[in-house]
Amino acid sequence: MDSSKDYSKLCIHTITTKPWSLAEAVDNYAMAGVKGITVWQNSVPDKNFEAAGKLIRSHGLEIISYCRGGFFTEPDAEKRAHAIEDNKKMIAEAAALGAPILVLVCGSSPTQSMEDSRTQIKEGIEALLPIAENAGVKLAIEPLHPMYADNRSAINTLGQANDMAEYFNSKWVGVAVDVYHLWWDPDLEKEIARCGGNDNLLAYHICDWKIPTTDLLLDRGLMGEGCIPLQKIKNWVASAGFDGYHEVEIFSNHYWQMDQGAFLKKIMEAYDEHCL
Ligand code: ZN
Repeated sequence: MDSSKDYSKLCIHTITTKPWSLAEAVDNYAMAGVKGITVWQNSVPDKNFEAAGKLIRSHGLEIISYCRGGFFTEPDAEKRAHAIEDNKKMIAEAAALGAPILVLVCGSSPTQSMEDSRTQIKEGIEALLPIAENAGVKLAIEPLHPMYADNRSAINTLGQANDMAEYFNSKWVGVAVDVYHLWWDPDLEKEIARCGGNDNLLAYHICDWKIPTTDLLLDRGLMGEGCIPLQKIKNWVASAGFDGYHEVEIFSNHYWQMDQGAFLKKIMEAYDEHCL
């Protein structure tokens, strides 16, 4: 890679290069000059989180976040309690890994009202808060695009995520801004300034929205190949005081089929061209 380019804030989610094992991802990211990595649970071999953390750090990479907890909503109380227990485990896994943040996809259940789902999300985070604080792991509420309001998240705008984070008023709860979910929102600039202003902006995820998008989940685009105003949003995030990593999170059946080394090269070129 060209050493004149600044990759000091570039982070890649392991799921972006899903065909690679964690060891392959870490090797290749480090060799290419990537500095940060966000770890998805399914990428950790044998659920050995301490060993994974050591492997990553031994390659000079910084662990930015652990993905992903949440899914708190469920009409059945016993299942809700079970979800909270799962999240407690994930907080412990994040701590063992050495990840400072657990990202939350909060959940939504189509057989109950959105209001009920949001109440359950609030109760779920409330139950986790002392455990997160004790483990030294922050919880990042990630609002999801409204196309996922049926069964993935009842938190669909950054305004709602900010409301929720401010309700807790804790340094252990904040929000994750993912351009894929939020680019369309007319209040985005205002809401980014709002979470930046009260130190609730914990994470920034990038990719692009392809035209047309052919799959609700697995057709995310590489930065620059869609309609998301990446430079504009990057400037809003910077103006809000965020100086953390820019995390490339791309779920794509298309890119997972290509040679992952060639894909990584494309990611770095796209980051350089559209995100710096
Ligand atoms: Zn994301």
